[in-house]
Amino acid sequence: MAEDIVPSLLKTINSQFDEQAKASKKLQAAARALKSGKATYQTANTFAIEAGEILAKVLQRNLKGASLPDQKLYFNIAQRILNETLSKNFDLVSGYTADVQKLLNEQAGIGLEVQKAMLNQDRIDGIVNRVSSEPDIDKVKWILDDPVVNFTQSIVDDSIDANCKFQSAAGLHPIITRRLVGKACKWCSDLAGVYDYFDLPDDIYRRHERCRCTVDYNPGSGKRQNVWTKKWRDPEQAQKLANRLAIGTGEKPLSINKTEQNRTATSR
Ligand SMILES: [Zn+2]
Repeated sequence: MAEDIVPSLLKTINSQFDEQAKASKKLQAAARALKSGKATYQTANTFAIEAGEILAKVLQRNLKGASLPDQKLYFNIAQRILNETLSKNFDLVSGYTADVQKLLNEQAGIGLEVQKAMLNQDRIDGIVNRVSSEPDIDKVKWILDDPVVNFTQSIVDDSIDANCKFQSAAGLHPIITRRLVGKACKWCSDLAGVYDYFDLPDDIYRRHERCRCTVDYNPGSGKRQNVWTKKWRDPEQAQKLANRLAIGTGEKPLSINKTEQNRTATSR
């Protein structure tokens, strides 16, 4: 009977991951941001992308044809390795984002319990099935690359969604922002913007290959939310509305312009 290669592969993958995660400047910076109370969901996105990229690199380095039977990542091997390592990323990222949400809640004076994302087992199964259906792992290395990063980043989205759902059920009015990252295609440009949680586009959490656009949520000042969502495409009209509403509250009107409309999450 052939030797079970999974335990030793897992050991190597885990120790290489831990080593690189520990040395990562981006992960260190994210930890500091949390400690100093400056972390946001943007920081959580950076944290997740970095954790995803480290894992993707380590998986590709160790799950090579030369170290696998028949150059193939058999289902039984893929399942055990990817379940464990992707779940580990889930624990890391969902733990970090829960801390971020706790911080944001405190800053906003919201006494609501933090909601943790649920592990998306379907996505893990999808990667396992896809990669194990291929006869030659070296020809489909990409499956262990972008989909792994994408999975890890989606943990942040799932955390945002769980908390917005909970906070809206508690009577708050969550506003979600999708921001462009890197070279933006038309699809991403069209999707970027500020949205009312009750009126999200279907694709708000979707990413095409190599897309690192971020979804952000900040409860801001708690109950008094900035309600300027992408629905208002006319910045002048939005500014007029802002001025009008500011009269009633005696506050400085919110400054609304095209770029801000697309970039800022919530006003404080
Ligand atoms: Zn994008």
